[in-house]
Amino acid sequence: MSLLKPHFRGAMLGVVVGDCMGSFWEATSWRKTLNMDDVQRKIDEQVEQSLRREFRISYTDDSTMSFSLAESLLSSKEYNAVDVAKRFSADYFRDPRRGYGQSISTVFTKLRFGIDDVYQPAAEQFNGKGSFGNGSAMRVAPVALFAYQKKDTLIEVARNSARITHAHPSAIIGAILQAIAVHTALELRGSDLDPVSFVESLLSVVVPLEEAVEEPTSSGATDESTPSGDDPSSSPPPDKKSLVLPSYQSKLLQIKEFIRQPHPPSADEIMETLGNGIKACEAVPCAIYAFLHCHKLSFKYLIPYTISLGGDTDTIASMAGAIGGAYWGESCIPMEWINSVEGSNQAIKLADGLFEFYSNA
Ligand SMILES: [Mg+2]
Repeated sequence: MSLLKPHFRGAMLGVVVGDCMGSFWEATSWRKTLNMDDVQRKIDEQVEQSLRREFRISYTDDSTMSFSLAESLLSSKEYNAVDVAKRFSADYFRDPRRGYGQSISTVFTKLRFGIDDVYQPAAEQFNGKGSFGNGSAMRVAPVALFAYQKKDTLIEVARNSARITHAHPSAIIGAILQAIAVHTALELRGSDLDPVSFVESLLSVVVPLEEAVEEPTSSGATDESTPSGDDPSSSPPPDKKSLVLPSYQSKLLQIKEFIRQPHPPSADEIMETLGNGIKACEAVPCAIYAFLHCHKLSFKYLIPYTISLGGDTDTIASMAGAIGGAYWGESCIPMEWINSVEGSNQAIKLADGLFEFYSNA
């Protein structure tokens, strides 16, 4: 097992590299999968252009919010909800064109002017049900680094940091699941990985959380942007059946089945069973499966593979990138990718800060 620090860096770099590489496809891959060769070609082309013309591929809200959360944890040396909320909101108003969800601006506007309970704006969304979008999970990777040795703290911080924007249990449990996946990858860091055991360790955390929720699959909505324009919050109220969300337990069991079957599922099969959309209960399982499918390969394969699964490509590639980067470490990420994306220096700086925090704890 290798030293921990390069894996902290790998996790944070994975967030930003996955986000940047996936962002090109976000608007074009709605409810469909992509040809992996096309994705690979586009990555090569973007990287080549970036290095030749000396510009960086832009990151989106996934990286912005991950950086903010990491910065807050480092400056407060603990989870401080008011500080996190302030930073999320300030970032949004500084640069709102980073691909934020459509209705999240309501939450950020309320947070901007100061509020006694920073969890209240998110809790009020969608008739008090809260958002079940993947925005809570896309930014959670730094929490796994911050609380590397304290799993209870990790779960608590993942839960509460989610609640600032996403109050629905499905979004909260999705954030915890993603944080635990990054944490498990960090613990394994390059050593033999049994995908079935990996899934079982995730199940052991998620099942009790889902059992503790009265209505884990009740109504709500997502606040993430939908490139097709069909924002669930602005659509007519769907019937009750369409509001029922699948559990993470069922998705993880499906992943276990995929792993065990002699031939891996097609991208379309993954889209139809795990999903690839803006719901946390689709994006998080999709990212976890992508990593497990590629765990014997490389980060260089993981990112185009994940993007080829379509849907919310930047967020899913960012989350898979965080898990893969945590597992393989910094050196697995192609240097030309690191040099061609915006925010890679910031990712390294924050990873080092979080490592120092962990070392001095
Ligand atoms: Mg994004």
